[in-house]
Amino acid sequence: MKAVVVGGGAAGMTAASRIRRLQPTWRVEVYEETPYVSHAPCGIPYFVEGLVRDKDELITYSPEFFRKKRKIEVFTNSKVLKIDHKAKKLTVLNSGREREVSYDKLIIATGAKPFIPNPKWLEVEKVFTIRHIEDGVSIRKRISKDKEVVVVGAGYIGIELSEALRKLGKRVTLVEAMDQIMPMFDKEVALDIEEYMSKRGVKIRKGEKVVDISQRRNGVLVETEKGSYKADSVILAIGVKPNVDLALMAGARRGETGAIYVDDRMWTGVEDLYAAGDNVEVLNLVTGRRSYMPLAPLANKEGFVAGDNVAGGSLRFPGAVGSAITKFYSLEIGITGISEANARKLGFKVKSVYISHSSKAHYYPGSKWIKVKLVVEEGSKRVLGGQIIGLEGVWGRISALAIAIQNEVKVSDLFFADIPYAPPFSPVLDPLIVAARVAR
Ligand code: NAD
Repeated sequence: MKAVVVGGGAAGMTAASRIRRLQPTWRVEVYEETPYVSHAPCGIPYFVEGLVRDKDELITYSPEFFRKKRKIEVFTNSKVLKIDHKAKKLTVLNSGREREVSYDKLIIATGAKPFIPNPKWLEVEKVFTIRHIEDGVSIRKRISKDKEVVVVGAGYIGIELSEALRKLGKRVTLVEAMDQIMPMFDKEVALDIEEYMSKRGVKIRKGEKVVDISQRRNGVLVETEKGSYKADSVILAIGVKPNVDLALMAGARRGETGAIYVDDRMWTGVEDLYAAGDNVEVLNLVTGRRSYMPLAPLANKEGFVAGDNVAGGSLRFPGAVGSAITKFYSLEIGITGISEANARKLGFKVKSVYISHSSKAHYYPGSKWIKVKLVVEEGSKRVLGGQIIGLEGVWGRISALAIAIQNEVKVSDLFFADIPYAPPFSPVLDPLIVAARVAR
């Protein structure tokens, strides 16, 4: 039996490893377009900043590791061009030569690519996107002498890169199409984040969709619906689109979000064809709808489930609530479940609270501010979402909340959640518990 995985990122390598674990005698092959597998694109902003010194540190395991230790045949610099799933054959391009590869079972883990409204923008010198390690290498090298950088898109990458660029001493203008930064957060939380970022020198321009980017004699001109900005370099961080072409060619179909449809076994509905990672949509456990959540922890778990099922296991991927965390300087920013605005858009009747508290007992030295927003469904009193920002202690609290939301906890149960306390870690009633008490 031979299993082939297309794509050597988080989902693909996890799937291949799971197949190897369950089926020691099968042949397992991975085809990856770039020179890397098991790479960590989430680390690129920290590489640009210089916090991560060497690009190799962003690679969890090398192709040699997989070949030698896991007996997985990894083919890098190998682009899959065509898939004929009826004949169970794919065509691979490597060093200018095409060859055919046969398989019995196929997993497509081709991930996502940066959304680019106009491909011409990328022809402009010093306009960058972020997806692969090489993008980070190129940015770090080519912007080193630049003074003025425009970052387009105030989502996760935009926030993380703004920190990196400010720490490198650049003047940063962050341009966002929506009327708030971090549109996945509610407005009042986004305003707090904006205030913090502005104080650290990021010039924020909201409600300005970028409509054109062009070359000028001494740099790049970014034109928005409202104005224009001159820069030495521009980084586009305006979201991603699922890479669905190969999966569609193999016979899979798109779901309602435009990403590949898979069931809870990561099965596409076509015999022996599975998909996992940033190219698929999954069930949102809060809304009950299909949702596109291109996030690294989910890709890893989806790959594990896909590999398990391909190898004869019966693991199920239950869905996700959409938890994410990031930071800008000392400001930690976490979210789980759905925002109040999104909940209302989807027809939920909700109430919300947004409370301020401190991260430790008030008398304990070094206590920092922290704010918690809870979104609660009227009637059922189920917690649908939470957003936490503050100068410390966000990760643990948003994690606790994520588990609560995933288990459909009511706000009164959250108030009685028996989370631990000692003065160095939290006030006697934790900010999360206080938010639940107010929301009750
Ligand atoms: P994103 O979806 O987080 O943010 C994109 C932003 O660009 C949005 O705010 C959007 O309104 C804005 N935008 C879109 N078109 C625009 C235009 N023409 N002009 C100005 N603004 C525009 O996407 P991202 O930051 O590119 O990140 C890519 C993916 O990687 C996301 O899915 C993100 O969730 C994920 N990611 C997550 C983390 C994390 O969890 N810490 C970190 C990095 C990336």
